[in-house]
Amino acid sequence: MECSEFVSLINSFNHGTLDEYNLKRFLIHLDKCKSCREELEIMYLVDKTMTDELKTYDLEKALSADIENAKDMIYVRERNRLYIDLTWMISGFFAASVAIYMFFLVF
Ligand SMILES: [Zn+2]
Repeated sequence: MECSEFVSLINSFNHGTLDEYNLKRFLIHLDKCKSCREELEIMYLVDKTMTDELKTYDLEKALSADIENAKDMIYVRERNRLYIDLTWMISGFFAASVAIYMFFLVF
């Protein structure tokens, strides 16, 4: 992801409306780009100050928590997807075994 795209997605990130695909790319870029992290901190500050949500909070901490939550969400979704893949594999294997068994039963 380019810095320009990252910046254009900051607003969506702050409002929790990024889809999974872009959220993942967003977080990857965030981890390796210091200037975008600073940009995000500024936008986050502006956004939260405008909504008056975080007056009593430590903003740096709140942002870190939001980032961690987003990462957890991606992790959980990827784990679930792996689980679903495994389930499909096992049921596929089972179906194949039954088919082979039937084959020998018939012939
Ligand atoms: Zn960047």
